[in-house]
Amino acid sequence: MNYQSTRGHDVPQTFSEILLGGLAPDGGLYLPKQYPQVTADELEAWRKLPYADLAYEVLRKFCDDIPEDDLRALTRKTYRAEVYGNARAGDNTADITPLRTLGEEGGTKLQLLGLSNGPTLAFKDMAMQLLGNLFEYALARAGKELNILGATSGDTGSAAEYAMRGKRGIRVFMLSPHRKMSAFQTAQMFSLQDPNIFNLAVEGVFDDCQDIVKAVSNDLDYKARQRIGTVNSINWARVVAQVVYYFKGWLLATDGPGQKVSFCVPSGNFGNVCAGHIARMMGLPIDKLVVATNENDVLDEFFRTGTYRVRKSAETYHTSSPSMDISKASNFERFVFDLLGQDAGKLAALFRDVDTKGGFDLSGTPEFARIREFGFVSGRSTHDDRVATIRGVSERYGITIDTHTADGVKVAREHLTAGVPMVVLETALPAKFADTIREALGHEPERPAAFEGIEKLPQRFEVMPNDAAQVKAYIAKHTGL
Ligand SMILES: *Cc1c(COP(=O)(O)O)cnc(C)c1O
Repeated sequence: MNYQSTRGHDVPQTFSEILLGGLAPDGGLYLPKQYPQVTADELEAWRKLPYADLAYEVLRKFCDDIPEDDLRALTRKTYRAEVYGNARAGDNTADITPLRTLGEEGGTKLQLLGLSNGPTLAFKDMAMQLLGNLFEYALARAGKELNILGATSGDTGSAAEYAMRGKRGIRVFMLSPHRKMSAFQTAQMFSLQDPNIFNLAVEGVFDDCQDIVKAVSNDLDYKARQRIGTVNSINWARVVAQVVYYFKGWLLATDGPGQKVSFCVPSGNFGNVCAGHIARMMGLPIDKLVVATNENDVLDEFFRTGTYRVRKSAETYHTSSPSMDISKASNFERFVFDLLGQDAGKLAALFRDVDTKGGFDLSGTPEFARIREFGFVSGRSTHDDRVATIRGVSERYGITIDTHTADGVKVAREHLTAGVPMVVLETALPAKFADTIREALGHEPERPAAFEGIEKLPQRFEVMPNDAAQVKAYIAKHTGL
């Protein structure tokens, strides 16, 4: 299995070669040269598999340079019920991603696929936990070490820390805006006592943290000497780990070959729904892929009109589904590559337009017409929709959903087809977004038992001035490199 860049750089790479990297040298994103295929018989044979072994079957089609026994050991170490044990009462944690039917709507079943039962209560754990184990394995094999530098306003940073804690050969330096995260999020990250996790609370806002990461990454000598890497959402292994739960969701929602299922995906950087697209390209019988956005509707605008217009950071709204607050969708390029029939030249031209003109317009082109062939539709949800949906789902079905999942349910309802189950991906648990739950329901969201009293645990963090030079000095002191 060889990988190519969306922009045409044609030195083929293996899975292990791209695992620890980010962008391709030409600024593109990596994709396999061909999507591996899954037959209907194979799918039926997978019905009985536990999640970890299903993950092994899917992953081995994408990475043939890790010995099979090692890969199986890695998926079994990752996808264990103890790691994904925060499910609601009545959900089957042995499934890792339990499927729950809300009810009959529009002549079909409206269902929730629980992806948020991992250690940080968001779907990012699904891929990040695997990444932690893959990184540790690959670094040990290569005799290397890696220092992950990131900036977070909450979700991604904590998922990365919980995936990398205690891993040999890896340190994490995570910048967050001092006193700007919720008490819950702060406690989740800062209560980690692992010596390889460094929480740096920067005296500034999230954008300052991101600017420091950029400044450090632009110092190429420093970056190489300190072995600095990242774990952002364009990482191919993260995307491919997410492909697995589309298979699991389909297997749980169907009982025989060829049955169609639609998925609705609360979207930001397009990583999650891109994985759904890849599952469909592999032959999984997906009917629609519904892209749900919040007020930051870059993607909804594209799927409705064919115009992709990235926003400036000042035009990005801070919403009550904050993990979908994006100005441009970093994984979107992977999908556009397929839309263009994998024409790297055309793709490179379009994304040059993104840099110089702020976007591109495919309206009225044959390429844009192909989004129907790929099953894509979209919709958008606002704060009022979110609150009404959380309230309505609670009244009608007696369960509390989080703000991102509420955006998904709202938009899913606009695209129901009789007889085709609609599976909404539950991307976070409500405990993380107490303010909006209180607004919608008038009471606190339930907390999984493991999180009771988390705010009272001792916290380990370092306050840093908003200054890249001091962050660099701190990292160097702790790596000893
Ligand atoms: C990251 C995130 C999303 C958006 O996922 P993308 O892969 O960026 O589209 C949605 N919901 C939650 C809770 C998230 O953490």
